Amino acid sequence: ARKRNGKNGTRLFDDEIVDIARKRLEIEQCIEQALREDWFEAYLQPIVELGTGRIAGFEALMRLRHPEKGVLVPDEIVGVAEENGAIGKVGDVIFEKAIRGLSAVSQVSGMGDCYLAVNFSPLQFDAALPSRLAAILLEHGVTASRIVVEITEAVLMLDNPAVRHVLDALGELGCRIALDDFGTGYSSLSYLNRFPVDIVKVDQSFVRSIGTQEAEITRKSRTLIEGITMISHQMGCIVVAEGIETEHQLQMLTEIGLDFGQGYLFSEPLPLSSLMARLPHLAARQPSHERTAMAGQ
Ligand code: C2E
Ligand code: MG
Ligand code: MG
Ligand code: MG
Repeated sequence: ARKRNGKNGTRLFDDEIVDIARKRLEIEQCIEQALREDWFEAYLQPIVELGTGRIAGFEALMRLRHPEKGVLVPDEIVGVAEENGAIGKVGDVIFEKAIRGLSAVSQVSGMGDCYLAVNFSPLQFDAALPSRLAAILLEHGVTASRIVVEITEAVLMLDNPAVRHVLDALGELGCRIALDDFGTGYSSLSYLNRFPVDIVKVDQSFVRSIGTQEAEITRKSRTLIEGITMISHQMGCIVVAEGIETEHQLQMLTEIGLDFGQGYLFSEPLPLSSLMARLPHLAARQPSHERTAMAGQ
């Protein structure tokens, strides 16, 4: 129902801006309401030790369960929340939900010392973040050594003393730092040297090109993953693969020597109640065909 395009397209352009502004306002209102009505959830995705199949930890992923619109994902929320300043509040809510999730899964047999990885936007890195996280951890009786703070290069690229200070404070608290989406950004390798990184997460794009395209692309991706893994290990980091969807990918990544992995092959990110129901099956190492079938449910 768009107005007719004007001589030079101005009309269409105006309408598009109005559409974008309306959509944005809608999301902003949605975020505000979600904070009031408690619609935010931290879905959890298992992170598996590749050598053994044991679940080593979980990554918390933001979801907004809207009563009419359904479940909104971070791509729809995070950018807007960053721009209007809500990200701090939203981040704290997600962190607390994730900690509750961790406490719940820790009750399951064998899960007592699993870790929790939480994603942070650069704009959440204010000076008060470490003390806010410490307070939430204390309240729930969770030790900081079980927490992994996932950041992307965007945080490190700011390269300002305040960010550095927050990272150091989180380290002193006992949290570990993971560098997410590794290998895609600009000058990634130097960050391993300049910042206190404990874990490197190989970007999904490398994993995705294993086995799904021509042999030459698989070979090149494998070479890149091998290189990243070798360097990361020599820098003392643990290496995690993201987006594992096939047995072929799992086999190759295990062969290369990555430490941990996550992906639909093991499990999608799940709301806490579904995870709790499925965890006994996931925790006992499943034959591969069963795992694949479960991931597709
Ligand atoms: P990420 O941290 O790299 O998370 C991995 C993304 O890949 C997640 O998307 C996850 O659902 C998806 N994924 C997991 N396994 C597979 C797989 O096997 N195949 C494929 N194709 N995808 C898989 P999601 O949940 O949409 O999150 C997207 C991004 O949003 C995250 O990327 C992270 O950067 C950001 N994000 C998520 N939660 C939060 C949060 O609480 N706070 C902030 N600031 N950012 C968040
Ligand atoms: Mg992440
Ligand atoms: Mg990632
Ligand atoms: Mg990402």
